[in-house]
Amino acid sequence: MPTAHHAKPAVASSELLDELAARLPAGALLTDPDTTAGYRQDWAKQPDAGSPAAVVRATCTADVQAVMRWSDAHGVPVVPRGAGTGLSGGSSAVDGGVVLSLEKMRGITVDPATRTAVVQPGLLNAEVKKAVAEYGLWYPPDPSSFEICSIGGNIATNAGGLCCVKYGVTTDYVLGLHVVLADGTLVRLGGPRLKDVAGLSLTKLFVGSEGTLGVVTEITVRLIPRQDPAVTMVATFASLRAAADAVLAITRSMRPAMLEFMDKVSINACEDHLRMDLDRDAEAMLIAQSDAPGGHAAAELEQMVAACKDAGATEVFHTDDADEGEAFCAARRAAFPAVAALGELLFEDVGVPMTRLPELVTGIADIAARRDVTIAVVAHAGDGNTHPLIVSDADDPAVAARAEQAFGEVIELALSMGGTITGEHGIGRMKKAWLPQYLGPDEMELNRRIKTALDPKGLLNPGAVF
Ligand SMILES: Cc1cc2nc3c(=O)[nH]c(=O)nc-3n(C[C@H](O)[C@H](O)[C@H](O)COP(=O)(O)OP(=O)(O)OC[C@H]3O[C@@H](n4cnc5c(N)ncnc54)[C@H](O)[C@@H]3O)c2cc1C
Repeated sequence: MPTAHHAKPAVASSELLDELAARLPAGALLTDPDTTAGYRQDWAKQPDAGSPAAVVRATCTADVQAVMRWSDAHGVPVVPRGAGTGLSGGSSAVDGGVVLSLEKMRGITVDPATRTAVVQPGLLNAEVKKAVAEYGLWYPPDPSSFEICSIGGNIATNAGGLCCVKYGVTTDYVLGLHVVLADGTLVRLGGPRLKDVAGLSLTKLFVGSEGTLGVVTEITVRLIPRQDPAVTMVATFASLRAAADAVLAITRSMRPAMLEFMDKVSINACEDHLRMDLDRDAEAMLIAQSDAPGGHAAAELEQMVAACKDAGATEVFHTDDADEGEAFCAARRAAFPAVAALGELLFEDVGVPMTRLPELVTGIADIAARRDVTIAVVAHAGDGNTHPLIVSDADDPAVAARAEQAFGEVIELALSMGGTITGEHGIGRMKKAWLPQYLGPDEMELNRRIKTALDPKGLLNPGAVF
């Protein structure tokens, strides 16, 4: 099967940048190195990220089209960027290219009659939630980073989160997209219709495409009514396996509104950070919620407590106080920044079929012991999606080498269990070495053919995913 042979990407010279600036509103194109340096990396801090020649802060779809037409005409690569909270190097800059930031496109219109909202990509996830809450509506997908990540980035990574175990992930709420293609063409896909099967499912093709197929400039999201306040359970365990067994017992019998896991390293990092009296001796902790309507939450809570006790929990606490419950969720959401205080992190995102979860978490602990590295594990356990955070040290080559080895071994472990190399963060640049193995030759080639059809010159986010 033929694959594209791209010409070497061009570097944006000052003449070319002048031409681009003339097509954009004043001040949209930034070339000051102190400013552009802030757009080199995302949260994954890919060490060999490039240095962009310029950053464009688009203010509207026409700006995005102008950038892509210019890129197509001159062969200059473009990296779309939301809020830069990605954990896979998906928005790492390319040397001499342009970073196309959507951070200034922040409009939202809510339509309570169709229970939809039309959102521009730069609005933060938390701002979308807040705007629709004024109409008694809810946009469920809730990555732990919801206060700092953009909805456009969520679409481009098909972000998950804490409530996804019951409510699904980003794609389940995307009804329509406006997408600017690599040659500057604007396509309007889907819209505020709950059913629409005309043509191929192109809207979904762009969800999770990590800025490699087009630039999302408008999103129509589906909303649902605000749910009842949740009741919360927190249980601690003396072993990883007991906690994972409790997860399986819970998911066998119900769909909790949240079912999160933290291991000892992450519990202690959070306790260092937040001082909320978490049990530092526990090997694992589960945080679970039920928001079942009609008074059924209490019954579900009882079932979850029983499942944890049967699995050997050392302590089980529960509350129907929403603020108290939120404090535990906030501790879980604080896990990444808290563990980041331990050193540089290699972020994993492996997921396995639910029944393999106990083997996965114990297997990761074995890798940490064998490689003599610290690995903190937090997980959206109810989805079988784990985030081993491997602590590295760029100043100590031996630790850095062992951390890299552990990174690969965790991925191989998940693959050996029929698992995935990424459940929600995307491939970006940090996991692409494993993509061909995961997909196999035929599916990998199909991915490449779609990429080539939509971006024949290979100018959209080159180096990401493919
Ligand atoms: C503390 C912390 C916790 C996190 N927790 C979660 C979690 O629970 N679940 C989860 O899924 N993720 C989580 N993440 C990862 C991250 O927040 C998500 O991947 C998020 O969706 C990225 O959004 P962003 O706006 O920061 O995008 P960026 O990092 O800027 O970009 C991400 C990718 O999307 C592309 N992109 C961005 N905007 C557009 C656009 N408009 N059009 C086309 N392509 C675009 C970029 O090219 C890149 O490939 C977490 C991150 C942090 C730092």
